Amino acid sequence: MTAVVTDPVAALSRLVAGHADDWDRAGRLPTRVARELGAAGVLCAQVPARHGGPGWDAVADGRLTAQAGELCSSTRSLMTSQGMVAWAVTRWGEDRHQARFLPPLTGGSLAGVAFSEEDAGSDLSGVRTEITHEAGRVRVTGRKVWVTGAVYADLVLVLGRYAGGTALVLVPTDAPGVTVLPRPDPVGCRAAGHADVVLDDVLLDEIHLLPGAGAPFGLPAQSVLLAGRISVAWGCLGIIRACLRSTARHAATRRQSGVRLAEHQLVARRLGEMVAAEQAVLRVCEHAAAAWRDGSPDLPAAALVAKHEGATRAAGTASSAMQVLASAAARDGHPVARAYRDAKLMEIIEGSTEICQLELADAAVREWT
Ligand SMILES: Cc1cc2nc3c(=O)[nH]c(=O)nc-3n(C[C@H](O)[C@H](O)[C@H](O)COP(=O)(O)OP(=O)(O)OC[C@H]3O[C@@H](n4cnc5c(N)ncnc54)[C@H](O)[C@@H]3O)c2cc1C
Repeated sequence: MTAVVTDPVAALSRLVAGHADDWDRAGRLPTRVARELGAAGVLCAQVPARHGGPGWDAVADGRLTAQAGELCSSTRSLMTSQGMVAWAVTRWGEDRHQARFLPPLTGGSLAGVAFSEEDAGSDLSGVRTEITHEAGRVRVTGRKVWVTGAVYADLVLVLGRYAGGTALVLVPTDAPGVTVLPRPDPVGCRAAGHADVVLDDVLLDEIHLLPGAGAPFGLPAQSVLLAGRISVAWGCLGIIRACLRSTARHAATRRQSGVRLAEHQLVARRLGEMVAAEQAVLRVCEHAAAAWRDGSPDLPAAALVAKHEGATRAAGTASSAMQVLASAAARDGHPVARAYRDAKLMEIIEGSTEICQLELADAAVREWT
């Protein structure tokens, strides 16, 4: 397998720029585009060249993710999911898992993360999906909800109970016993292909079970969630940039009461806060990505801070942008209206704002007393 020769930045621009609002209204993006993004190395840019990926480090991948977040949060959602699956295989897989599962992920196959269940959202220790392993075969039974990208996915990474602990298993969506049930009309990221995934006595070869099976909840699954948090934080930076661009342009040109909006101090204050949000989120994202790249012990806290700041500031910035654009953005199909809906979801996924705050409070008690 040789390294991809395409430029992921150029591929992202070519395939996505200018389409997000149409895809959002349609509630779907073309599967062909998602596969081309994957084959161009956009969806999991950290996969090493020996497995067909661009082999970028976490900081470069983060900048690409911010670019995707600025263009289209649905596309960024697919990047986050595929990146999490690729990271699980890279971090926890042996050579045989990496050789089997990574080249397809950089060759146009698509993947999602199936952790949440109806009664296990914020608290994933409550998952009920059963994974068993006997005579070289793995059996999976359960029901997963809200799996981003599942409508397009060839593979889902499933978290389940296993031998007194938990395990991660890679389940092809065309395996007998797998049913994908699309979730219609999500409030945001409408083209990200959310679906529930029913796993009815799915039988797979044991290579689909990742090493680390049986570990208490908190090891493989937590490391995958960390990767997701950093990716979502970069995506939030992209949302902030999209809102800042639209708001600055509008405030610089529209006139009310005889002056440009930007000259009204109450509007100017919002613009100033947006610039500060963009800079603050950029810095925490860079810090978290560098911690990931360098294997720093700061990684869990840095990822939490980046996710928390990214999501809350993206939601605040998008709300401010709506206020400044007012009726100009008050319709479906406007980038700021889309950002407003997408940003709210960022406060819910990959550790809600409250869950991040609780974990940061734990860190405060550990480190500041
Ligand atoms: C658009 C979208 C995409 C998603 N994509 C995926 C995906 O790809 N894969 C996947 O596995 N899951 C996915 N999810 C599920 C997502 O991870 C969960 O929605 C999220 O973890 C929150 O769980 P919940 O919705 O069940 O809310 P709940 O856990 O029921 O929480 C409800 C509210 O209570 C708060 N709360 C919960 N526990 C506490 C506590 N201990 N203290 C204080 N407050 C608390 C929460 O912050 C939240 O505000 C997605 C969800 C959405 C909406």
